[in-house]
Amino acid sequence: METIKKDNSGTLSLPENLEKLLTDCTLCPRNCHVNRMAGQIGYCLQTGTLRAARAALHYWEEPCISGTAGSGAVFFGGCSMRCVFCQNHDIAAGEAGREISVERLKEIFLELQEKGANNINLVTPTHFVPLIVPALRAAKREGLRIPIVYNTSSYEKVSTLQLLDGLVDIYLPDLKYESAALSGLLSNAPDYFETAAAAIAEMVRQVGEPVFAAPDGTQLFAPQMNDACEEADEDTEFLMKKGVIVRHLALPGQEADSKRVLSYLLKTYGERIYISLMNQYTPIPSVLEKTLPKLTQSACLTGLQRRLTEDEYEALIDFAIENGIENGFIQDQETAQESFIPAFDGEGI
Ligand code: SF4
Repeated sequence: METIKKDNSGTLSLPENLEKLLTDCTLCPRNCHVNRMAGQIGYCLQTGTLRAARAALHYWEEPCISGTAGSGAVFFGGCSMRCVFCQNHDIAAGEAGREISVERLKEIFLELQEKGANNINLVTPTHFVPLIVPALRAAKREGLRIPIVYNTSSYEKVSTLQLLDGLVDIYLPDLKYESAALSGLLSNAPDYFETAAAAIAEMVRQVGEPVFAAPDGTQLFAPQMNDACEEADEDTEFLMKKGVIVRHLALPGQEADSKRVLSYLLKTYGERIYISLMNQYTPIPSVLEKTLPKLTQSACLTGLQRRLTEDEYEALIDFAIENGIENGFIQDQETAQESFIPAFDGEGI
């Protein structure tokens, strides 16, 4: 285990082994081999300095993550995935956000805990893992006690995730596509499915089966949690303390691929994970105007210009039920609104 040092000014400095990861960056499957410490940028559009666009209480995650107090979400700048329909385009394109030090990130974690956050929610953190690790370690030494959530596209290397072993309590990964053609077209990542599948296996290995806390502090595993939810009134709060929730954002017109994703997760993990089936896809004209014309096969993507229909979503829910889903979250139709995309205005940074 590496040590974290403070220089003469008291600033946290990066351990040498973590700094090395940024000087010839192969942190994610893009393998850019750029020297981010020297200011170069790769596919994620970020140098070796942390950039974040918002750190605030966030109420729109799954209920066991947000609770009523909110999740302490830190939105990082840049992204190694950069999907053409990105819902957080301003930050993914590196256009929003402000540079911060590792020391400041540690303070942000502690401030969010002070504000009553149920957890620290690291949103799109992959390309900053070597900088997040020392900030988390320092914050934990200074009293950070709430669970750490790692919220990712899953386009991750297992070796990068292993840097987080023992630091992250809850993984919140996407499984976006099964089809290589679709992931190639929409995310420039034809190797997405096998990469994400290996990443999710590592996440489950690290944190194990889901554990929740009832309002009286009782620990509940998944079957007890599902029974307790059925019996409790709807205001009773059960917060996740450990585990994996895999998200799948259903895309308009892509029902067959969504079914392949659900089948894979149900057959591979059964009740060892939760699945969050999301209907909140929101076409953002300013984003699609830039990206869709560049796609030669755009005829098959006309669905991206509309929202998911109720029938499309119901068909996926029915499919999940027919295939034995026990641990799952679904969304109300009203959640497909642009208002769920927060303002990336530097709040809390
Ligand atoms: S983290 Fe960024 S620079 Fe490093 S390999 Fe991935 S996309 Fe490239």
